[in-house]
Amino acid sequence: MHEMSIALNIIDIAHEEALRANAKKINEIEIEIGTISGVEISALEFSLDIAVKNTFLENAQRKIIPVQAKAECLECNSIFSLTTFYEPCPNCQSLTINILQGKELRIKSINID
Ligand SMILES: [Zn+2]
Repeated sequence: MHEMSIALNIIDIAHEEALRANAKKINEIEIEIGTISGVEISALEFSLDIAVKNTFLENAQRKIIPVQAKAECLECNSIFSLTTFYEPCPNCQSLTINILQGKELRIKSINID
């Protein structure tokens, strides 16, 4: 499963951060997932539930924050929400767009002791 390798990767990063900061435990972790990042949040939650067992993150609070994909039209400068990568501008139908957000897959913050 794609999401399981992402979950393991998140745990690795959090673990390294905790070691670097000499932390005894991780209280909370915030993860941002863009709506067009290709990651299904429910699948990621499920994978994390399994993967955190016996790790620093076992008892950490998890916040998974969806980031709504948005793009800017380079023709008419309107900003609109996207549900897929290639969507025309709803205002002028141009496909010359710049994705502003929604591809995120990152740890936003880690709260440690
Ligand atoms: Zn446009």
